[in-house]
Amino acid sequence: MIKDRIIELNSSMPAGARLLAVSKFHPVEAIREAYDAGQRLFGESRVQEVVAKKDQLPADIEWHFIGHLQTNKVKQLVPFVTLIHGVDTEHLLAEIDKQAALCGRTVDCLLEVHVAREESKFGFSPEDVLRFFSEGADRRYEHVRVVGIMGMASHVDDDAAIRSEFKILRSLYDEVKAKYAPWFRELSMGMSGDYRIALEEGSTMVRIGTYIFGERNY
Ligand SMILES: *Cc1c(COP(=O)(O)O)cnc(C)c1O
Repeated sequence: MIKDRIIELNSSMPAGARLLAVSKFHPVEAIREAYDAGQRLFGESRVQEVVAKKDQLPADIEWHFIGHLQTNKVKQLVPFVTLIHGVDTEHLLAEIDKQAALCGRTVDCLLEVHVAREESKFGFSPEDVLRFFSEGADRRYEHVRVVGIMGMASHVDDDAAIRSEFKILRSLYDEVKAKYAPWFRELSMGMSGDYRIALEEGSTMVRIGTYIFGERNY
């Protein structure tokens, strides 16, 4: 049951960590059930889908965007999104900044960092992130606040490998926060298969879909 999973997960969150319920590909009724169990943070990965869902659901839901965001879709998302987790290029950050300025908002974002073994097309390397902040690149964007980083571990059955990737993300987060960005407050890591390890390694937000809502029908 969705409700039981929400209650179980939220009651087991360590201090300083929050649950993002990843509701992509699941219907409004499933989200409503999680909402009724107290869940308020939901993650979606397609702009059209979240735009269609949000008007059918309570206004106190925080919508987070976790997918690959195309620049031509930014305009529809920016008026209501709480946090964009997967900013994978500076070009995208510039577009979010532009659209946020047009609608009079400042939008919180996370840089997506790739540390997994899989060859990743998307995101920044840890070195890119350090360079971004050491050059003061974040100051180019007045309507965007980069408040942390997001990452995914390799899809492997090797807990030690997953843990070492989460450790890399945590130490990058700590370094950026200490040297450049004292306002850093989100380290988004951990999914259904690895969230326990992510929490042990200092995640501030786990993004859990399948464990709550079951398999997705794509
Ligand atoms: C779909 C998705 C999740 C949720 O994955 P589950 O394995 O279903 O928990 C988390 N993060 C991102 C970026 C996703 O795209």
